Amino acid sequence: MTEFQYRCSLCGRTYGRDGVRYLCPDCGRGYSPGMPLRGVLEAEFDYRGIARRFRRSRPDWDLFSPVEREHYPDYPAGGTPFSPAPRLGERLGWPRLWIKNDGLNPSGSLKDRASFLVVAEAARLNEKTLVAASTGNAASSLAAVCAAAGRRAVIFVPQSTPRAKLVQMLVCGARVVPVCGSYDDAFRLSLEYTRRHGGLNRNTAYHPLTIEGKKTAGLEIFAQNGLRVPDAILVPVGDGVIISGVYKAFHDLRAAGLCERLPRLVAVQADSSAAIHDYIVGGNFRPAPSPVTIADSISVSVPSNPDLARRAVLESGGFSLTVSDERIMQAQALLAGQAGIFAEPAAAAAAAALLSDEARQRLDPGWQIVLLVTGHGLKDVEAPLSRLRIPEAVPADFADLPAETEEA
Ligand SMILES: *Cc1c(COP(=O)(O)O)cnc(C)c1O
Ligand SMILES: [Zn+2]
Repeated sequence: MTEFQYRCSLCGRTYGRDGVRYLCPDCGRGYSPGMPLRGVLEAEFDYRGIARRFRRSRPDWDLFSPVEREHYPDYPAGGTPFSPAPRLGERLGWPRLWIKNDGLNPSGSLKDRASFLVVAEAARLNEKTLVAASTGNAASSLAAVCAAAGRRAVIFVPQSTPRAKLVQMLVCGARVVPVCGSYDDAFRLSLEYTRRHGGLNRNTAYHPLTIEGKKTAGLEIFAQNGLRVPDAILVPVGDGVIISGVYKAFHDLRAAGLCERLPRLVAVQADSSAAIHDYIVGGNFRPAPSPVTIADSISVSVPSNPDLARRAVLESGGFSLTVSDERIMQAQALLAGQAGIFAEPAAAAAAAALLSDEARQRLDPGWQIVLLVTGHGLKDVEAPLSRLRIPEAVPADFADLPAETEEA
């Protein structure tokens, strides 16, 4: 842990750690549900202090954490594999392709990193209940971390959330409230809930430590890459908080003098759920009118964090693009078939970007490219099943095995 203050990303005002909880009190007054958040706070550390204490020979990554270790829940979030995927890379045209597989977090998605840190903050503040709205993964993750930490999770999800994610929440003992409506409706209800009943709200970007939690994915990439910055990182984007967290990792590393440049951050959205992409490209924010996509985890009409996501892409020299559901499912099959990694559709969207002309034009084949795989494929088996056929059962007698199923 290192000393920090919060700085409003809109007006620049600073606040002490305990002077504020969610949005900038000034700018947040202008926020109402149905629009992007206003006055999202960023943690600003004592970077000189980090630079003084950090040892390259024995890195202490806790220096970049805004919560003391004593408050951490007993839940092993993060520490996921980072490994080359040469077979997939050759196939796609980027031989130096690497995968950071965050589908291997305990609850099966990168969201564990944010839940972990907000639950640590709840322990520090002695808050017994955590509240969240989610398309699914943030909620299943919060349910799991709360179970390990002995806290209560109250969760609002759209009715359409994949069943496996709902089962995860329920089996971990969360109070689950499916909402007849979209993720945006669930978000509004969860804010209303904390306003009336208290508890700590974990909504993405609304609680500033969600960005800090997701930051650890970027810190790990840097650490596992031998304290080197990759050339580009592809990130699937819904609310725009994961990409802001990855940006924050390299921003903090640079501020502490540990690296000189940022990796180019490539934001990948689904064709129909492209509010952040449109904002990056056109400069004007407009909600996505009908964000219907097979990639449920990145389906959002009004993303909460478009400004920081846009800055992450532009300041890092990256770009944004959108992919069709068809491409996403093709990429899911490629990731599984060429790298053995089964990713949920939203996570496969990052790989789908590598099938596009934009990627071929803008990403040099000599670069080290990192795919951030954000969620596990077992969270939604219905999606790939629409393209697969489970073979008919055969009689339990070797002599009757059809010839074409015999292995060479
Ligand atoms: C939440 C999520 C995303 C998108 O993250 P944002 O912070 O909303 O942009 C991508 N993939 C998966 C699997 C997710 O759960
Ligand atoms: Zn402000």
